[in-house]
Amino acid sequence: MIVVHDLHKHFGGFRAVNGASLRIETGSITGLIGPNGAGKTTLFNVIAGRLPPTSGRVEMDGEDITGLPPHELFHKGLLRTFQIAHEFSSMTVRENLMMVPGGQSGETLWNAWFQRTRIRDEERALRQKADEVLEFLTISHLADEKAANISGGQKKLLELGRTMMVDAKIVFLDEVGAGVNRTLLNTIGDAIVRLNRERGYTFCVIEHDMDFIGRLCDPVIVMAEGQVLAQGSADQIMQNEAVIEAYLGT
Ligand code: ADP
Repeated sequence: MIVVHDLHKHFGGFRAVNGASLRIETGSITGLIGPNGAGKTTLFNVIAGRLPPTSGRVEMDGEDITGLPPHELFHKGLLRTFQIAHEFSSMTVRENLMMVPGGQSGETLWNAWFQRTRIRDEERALRQKADEVLEFLTISHLADEKAANISGGQKKLLELGRTMMVDAKIVFLDEVGAGVNRTLLNTIGDAIVRLNRERGYTFCVIEHDMDFIGRLCDPVIVMAEGQVLAQGSADQIMQNEAVIEAYLGT
């Protein structure tokens, strides 16, 4: 689904991404791992249109999508989860989901929201969809909670839920497990697997928790120093000497 060719992203003289090439196959849950500073987040930001590349190319289903802005990628079904923006934390969990279909930038969302309040049928349909998403994620009981009051892990589920409000094809998840307790991490993992199997979502996941990566991801791509160092199943990766060295070297 996604092919990255010889991608570079330099910050001044510093090569955060330094000639990375990789493929994300349709229907996969691809893991992206690597030591801190390997360039994983920068690579995500370039693919998701948040940073222009210095050079190189990104394709989606054979189409050149290099440098397209996030809202255009959004309409193509390429989504990157992002943290609940501060201005939405006083809204309920359900309202946060209902905001999504208008687009991803704060202003557009607000405009869409105000228009939407005038169109009752559409609002009802959105509300129903939001409630289905909450049920799928097993967090229906949080529908009327303010987003500010839910836990870090529940916020991650809400971020995942936002991708379900539109027709996502591929979802980029950045450190789903950061600061999340084991039980909730399992719930998030289950939701990812079900979205993959039942709704055909392709995922690319940056995560440090190797249990999580091993349970969910195939293949696993390892980055180090801005390049792809290795790729394979989680087991193969963990026995790869270059990979072990890259981790021990930091
Ligand atoms: P990872 O996600 O693998 O930890 P990052 O992509 O966050 O790695 O960072 C790769 C390197 O690029 C790091 O050394 C980081 O300091 C640097 N970097 C990231 N963003 C910027 C930026 N906007 N300006 C300068 N350096 C950056």
